[in-house]
Amino acid sequence: MRIAFIALIAMCAILVSNIITSEISHANRGMVVSATVTHKENAVNSDGLTAEAGIEEQGEALKLAIAQLKPKFEVPEAFQGKVIREAKTNTEDKFIALTFDDGPWPRTTSKVLEILKENDMKATFFLIGKHLKDNPEIAREIVADGHAIGNHTWSHQYHKFSPAEAAKEIDDTEALIYETTGVKTSYFRPPGGMLKNGLAAYAEQNSYAVMMWSVDSADSRGNGVPVATLAKNVLENARPGGVVLLHDGGGDRSTTVQALPQIIEGLRQQGYKFVTVPQLLGMQTEAPPSQPVMPPEEHADKDTQTLPSQ
Ligand SMILES: [Zn+2]
Repeated sequence: MRIAFIALIAMCAILVSNIITSEISHANRGMVVSATVTHKENAVNSDGLTAEAGIEEQGEALKLAIAQLKPKFEVPEAFQGKVIREAKTNTEDKFIALTFDDGPWPRTTSKVLEILKENDMKATFFLIGKHLKDNPEIAREIVADGHAIGNHTWSHQYHKFSPAEAAKEIDDTEALIYETTGVKTSYFRPPGGMLKNGLAAYAEQNSYAVMMWSVDSADSRGNGVPVATLAKNVLENARPGGVVLLHDGGGDRSTTVQALPQIIEGLRQQGYKFVTVPQLLGMQTEAPPSQPVMPPEEHADKDTQTLPSQ
């Protein structure tokens, strides 16, 4: 029993080592691992119950090491508390990040995941807490496929938030993301791109990256926008280091699903490679501009009247 358990520990150690090496070599921190890790954690748990004390301790240490490998999307220090629309990357390499908001959502999120898988690419999903509560399995699928995730508030509303209300919107979503997927993320996207209603200010104070976008597909306007127009909006406005706004949830997103293969193919023809938002920020070649979020009391209400629902 003891020898068998030591062998298991050794196998797990090799696994952990391989994962670490793989993650570093792909500059792809915080991704992969979830399915395999869960399996190994279970193996350690069940064997650990009957093992001798010393081995139990080793098992616990290993379990901790594996837990630390769960996806963690940290923001580079230079971007913490900043509003970011795109990254200043090496223009020769043409990297771009597709982002999907308002899920997880039945059917469309899974269709988006299928298309991304067929194209062997990763993207970033900004999740709404109340949708995550209803669709936890879809969120786990997003993470298992190796995509990055961010926080898009609990209820996706546009009114002014008191500091306590803003904290609840963001903290409750953060807690549920962790509880559901094991992921910690410090990427926040304000609903509607609104920066002055108290939500972004709270995110800034808590060192989130406040992630806006540089390319709007206009799919937030619903199915009235033709598929070809969505694709054209992205393909004509793409730039290296860009962040593309798309939606996989919050309503009928069938036109987004239809446009996605054209968008991917068109960007590939222009020479783009796809990365997640955390990967894109990791490629930044110069310091980001300092653009602090305005405190909510300095905000004039006019913003709320002009922003589309995003
Ligand atoms: Zn949204």
